Amino acid sequence: GLKIGILGGGQLGRMLSVAASRLGFSCHIYEPVAHPPAGDVAQEVTTAPYDDRAALKAFARSVDIVTYEFENIPTDALDVIEAHCPIRPGRHALEVSQDRLVEKAFLTDIGLKTAPFAAVDDPVDLAEVLEEIGPPGLLKTRRFGYDGKGQARVTEPADAKAALAAMAGAPAIYEGFVGFSQEISVIAARSLSGQIACFDPGQNVHRDGILRTTTVPAPLTTAQRTDAVLIAGRILNALDYVGVMGVEIFVTPTGLLVNEIAPRVHNSGHWTQNGCAIDQFEQHIRAIAGWPLGDGRRHGDIEMENLIGADMARLPELAADPGVSLHLYGKAEARAGRKMGHANRWLRPA
Ligand code: ATP
Ligand code: MG
Ligand code: MG
Repeated sequence: GLKIGILGGGQLGRMLSVAASRLGFSCHIYEPVAHPPAGDVAQEVTTAPYDDRAALKAFARSVDIVTYEFENIPTDALDVIEAHCPIRPGRHALEVSQDRLVEKAFLTDIGLKTAPFAAVDDPVDLAEVLEEIGPPGLLKTRRFGYDGKGQARVTEPADAKAALAAMAGAPAIYEGFVGFSQEISVIAARSLSGQIACFDPGQNVHRDGILRTTTVPAPLTTAQRTDAVLIAGRILNALDYVGVMGVEIFVTPTGLLVNEIAPRVHNSGHWTQNGCAIDQFEQHIRAIAGWPLGDGRRHGDIEMENLIGADMARLPELAADPGVSLHLYGKAEARAGRKMGHANRWLRPA
């Protein structure tokens, strides 16, 4: 069967490997840190940094396709891999999603709405931007941020100095604060032949910058639901995308704004494991393998709860609950803020 290379060995790589093995495929994980969560499941693991060209080359030659579970793969590593096998989703999606400024410019270019934004490289830029967009807002590093890391709130102009200091010299983007009524995400897939399938939008609740729960269905009007799915489709087509993507959206009284896109399976799509015949992980594997997509139909209302750090103390109670499906990542140490697993709670049939 097909051999799939996965860059990154975290929980997403682990669940992708499970889905791949159900389709009879084998997986080779490439991950700098030893004993990754995906290592328990995949057939092969390479432990090497992303600048080890020899290891990357050997990895790429050992597989038929390469995919990834995180978007911050260095461009040089992609060059080495692409000389030997295809990378799906392709380079364009990575370039766009690695940099918040490029991402927002792309989204605006294809006619979608985002929070007002501007590049900020120094105190002068920030002063100008605060005149133009105004507080409140958020200063974010353009690259490498996740789980709300690399962000600083600007509530009034006096906060500017501290916010800029928090960027530690990294290029930044300022975004006007969006007064959203809710946050949702669309987990969407596009096949090699251009077929598109979307899962039903879920409502996301964050705490301390980290996703806490996703609930489906999100409480949306029919028009909002349609709009959300059309937004996702427009993004996938514009990128000639192959695979699953997570599209984070702010719902506001004046319409839907795109927050960010993730060119991979997404934490807010974990509910699909117990709410759909074909979950986001299988959907991604199907897409990159050149298979037809599953239709992503939802058969249940589900609440997905992330188990973060000390939440693991609730394991006995969750395990005893007949309405809960547990997905644990096999991580030894439950540090604060660390995603250890998730619980999918069945609410009712769809
Ligand atoms: P992720 O872990 O999803 O990749 P991230 O670190 O890339 O997160 P964002 O998604 O940009 O960060 O922001 C995290 C959360 O902060 C958002 O889900 C939202 O709740 C809030 N947030 C971010 N930007 C804005 C904004 N412009 N207006 C209002 N709230 C925002
Ligand atoms: Mg992000
Ligand atoms: Mg986000």
